[in-house]
Amino acid sequence: MNYFSSNFTLGILGGGQLGKMLLQVTSKLNIKTNILDPSPNSPCKNLCNEFQSGNLMDFNSVYKFGKKCDLVTYEIEHVNIEALEKLESNGIKVFPSSKTLKIIQDKNLQKQFFIKNKIPTANFWHFKSFKDFKNSTNKNEIKFPCVWKKTKFGYDGFGVEILNSLNDLKRLPESEFIIEEFVPFKKEIATTIARNKSGQIEVFPIVEMMFNKISNQVEYVICPAQINDDIKAKAKEIALEVSKSFEQIGLLAVEMFLTNDNKILVNEVAPRPHNSAHYSIEACTNSQFDQHIKSILDLPLGCSKSNMFAIMVNLVGEKGFSGPARYNGIKEAMEFDNVSVHLYGKTETKPNRKMGHATILDTSLKNGLSIAKSIKKIIKIKTN
Ligand code: ADP
Repeated sequence: MNYFSSNFTLGILGGGQLGKMLLQVTSKLNIKTNILDPSPNSPCKNLCNEFQSGNLMDFNSVYKFGKKCDLVTYEIEHVNIEALEKLESNGIKVFPSSKTLKIIQDKNLQKQFFIKNKIPTANFWHFKSFKDFKNSTNKNEIKFPCVWKKTKFGYDGFGVEILNSLNDLKRLPESEFIIEEFVPFKKEIATTIARNKSGQIEVFPIVEMMFNKISNQVEYVICPAQINDDIKAKAKEIALEVSKSFEQIGLLAVEMFLTNDNKILVNEVAPRPHNSAHYSIEACTNSQFDQHIKSILDLPLGCSKSNMFAIMVNLVGEKGFSGPARYNGIKEAMEFDNVSVHLYGKTETKPNRKMGHATILDTSLKNGLSIAKSIKKIIKIKTN
């Protein structure tokens, strides 16, 4: 199949920042790309060949959009699965597959999948509702603290709460949920794996994620993770096991906990480009976005190694500002010669909304981290 400068049409469900960074690759390779996103002001609106606004959870809008494409992928997990299944049965390729996405969309199915495939993960209990919880004898096994997770439609830590007692359940919304054992961890680490249909696999470096203590969002990603080589090798081995279990085609981000007693437990996976690998745009020969496109089209992947320290800083909306975004301090950030700034083009800012990121490359981790912290102070996203 000729993808380049041809009528081949790639459809991407979702037109946020991940879609925008995927478009930088399809634009580079001159691959015709259509996007479907609920927001008529999506960051991708003017950057793709055809933009359509529509509900990603609606069967008809996803199916109709997909019918006009040769291959469909997605940059967000919250999309209508039945439409993807129907597209696949009509001969339209969907990568990563609907089968994979269906499991990943639901934290209960995802955890069951890990258990079935002997992937190390924290113990958990599944409840359909509060009533189910009340009537269940399983709940007697739960120790506090533990972690409540909504099975569906959580994102960026929304839909995850730490419970210190049974009483804490009362402030949570009614929904299907899992309760997970609280994992005492040293670090949260991640990697991304690309695999094409021919079976070529490329594993990105193991990175560590540092969270903001108040918002509980990822604030910095450090590549490579500051862990010893044995632990890195173990994490890579486990991530490859996950990839194999899913019969992966496309990209798979694997988030893991490194526990206080040096065990590795898989937290969750995402079958799409992930915040933890944004650093790869500058730090790796082939970024996660290059690899997503190349793996779903079964093209040779090339390498994704990195030979410098890279630190990614998420640039989020300042507290207390909601409305049309104004970016302060960009020019000052550019005074550093090793900083690359990305702005996502979202028109409205909100407290903690991901509005952009910056990547710092350095031969010294200490220096790079210190610059990353300065960037966080210099760039402020407010309103006009
Ligand atoms: P999301 O899908 O919203 O990203 P996660 O399952 O990754 O949710 O959880 C968000 C964060 O909550 C994690 O990054 C971690 O800091 C914390 N967390 C999740 N599960 C556990 C657990 N079992 N033990 C301790 N902390 C956890």
